[in-house]
Amino acid sequence: MTSLPPERSRRILTGTNLGNNRDSTRQHNLSTVLGLVHSLSGVSRSQLTRATGLNRSTIAALVAELVQLGLVVESDLDQAQQYGRPSIMIQPSPGALALAVNPDVDVVTVALVSLGGHIVNAVRFHTVRAPSAAEVVNIVSAIYAGMRTSLPAHQRVVGVGLAIPGLVDPVGGTVIDAPHLGWRDEPLAARLSEALKLPVIAANDAVAGARAQATFGAGCGVSDLVYLYGGASGIGGGVISGGRLIHGSSGFAGQLGHTHVRTGGVRCTCGSNGCLEAEITREELIAAVDLPHGETENLEEVIMERLQDQVQSSDLREVIDRQVQVLAVGLKSVVNLLNPSMVVLGGFLRILVRAAPGALSEALSTTATRGPRENVSIELAPLGDDSILVGAAELAFEPLIRDPAGFLRLRTAVVEAVHNEIPVPAQTA
Ligand SMILES: [Zn+2]
Repeated sequence: MTSLPPERSRRILTGTNLGNNRDSTRQHNLSTVLGLVHSLSGVSRSQLTRATGLNRSTIAALVAELVQLGLVVESDLDQAQQYGRPSIMIQPSPGALALAVNPDVDVVTVALVSLGGHIVNAVRFHTVRAPSAAEVVNIVSAIYAGMRTSLPAHQRVVGVGLAIPGLVDPVGGTVIDAPHLGWRDEPLAARLSEALKLPVIAANDAVAGARAQATFGAGCGVSDLVYLYGGASGIGGGVISGGRLIHGSSGFAGQLGHTHVRTGGVRCTCGSNGCLEAEITREELIAAVDLPHGETENLEEVIMERLQDQVQSSDLREVIDRQVQVLAVGLKSVVNLLNPSMVVLGGFLRILVRAAPGALSEALSTTATRGPRENVSIELAPLGDDSILVGAAELAFEPLIRDPAGFLRLRTAVVEAVHNEIPVPAQTA
């Protein structure tokens, strides 16, 4: 019989306290059921009954309401169930979509993501230089207009999640500082919302990635997780501790790329010297294999292939070995400070583990304190890691999952207001 991961079950059960009145209890239960169907990408009725502690008829009524709202579908019986009556499977409806947007220094990626974290359609728009915020609005508007024309009538976009390689004001979604893009105080979420007539929620890209890893990826069910992502715009991080995403006092926690790794080191965009993201860069790896601009998408495969020739790749090997040692110094601080049970490496950081198997763990074992280092496993996000897009979509899905019926009621009112040219009230995260 299939069962939920123990950590996941425990987390859900602690969240099923009854609300103050009937409406809030129903909203809470709808939210819990939709959250389970979403994060597990499908779940049987009997699993829902066990995980929530609600009785079968209540689960049936909640599922019926979610079906009516167009958020889940009932499908075939759970064939994996070995005992008792087969249970009906509940899956996320393909009809509810989020638009995920991730601008970076050389590409703007726009994707439609369905409930369950599945990327339905993704477009990568390459740029010759870092785009301005206004250009991002134009690029995303044009791509979204094209995507909308091919959407069947039963599919609707409920909101936009914006993953930014920089600091984002968690309240209004203003990009406070994205040094690699050259942006400061850009109200991108508000401008995009105005252009697309959709609610837009923005966050740091690696924080969005951490959220996706904890919900769907290697860290599913892991309550103490660090996600470290290396991209064209440096290194970002997100921290899940005790099952919760760590935001900090003003929403900027997880700036792991600015962990100090070398006194008097390379100047960083933050104004300091010797930060992790200044000392190890994707650019250095690209230069080591002499890959032309615009052909860097397959960097990992190119490097792994070049390393086959030990003589010809000695310079590349030197760069990788140095980056591994520097990453270990950065991870030492992270592991000692946060005591995670898992560190997930995404983007170009994957290459360092694949190109030098065991080297990072070995370097870490001689630097980090014995207790924390013995508990931590280092995992790789999948090749072609989509965590940032899936995590961006999570930002947009969050208000829907928190209050499915209420959110859709509000969306319908907003869509009607736009259609009838009635001023739309400002929407907040
Ligand atoms: Zn820095």
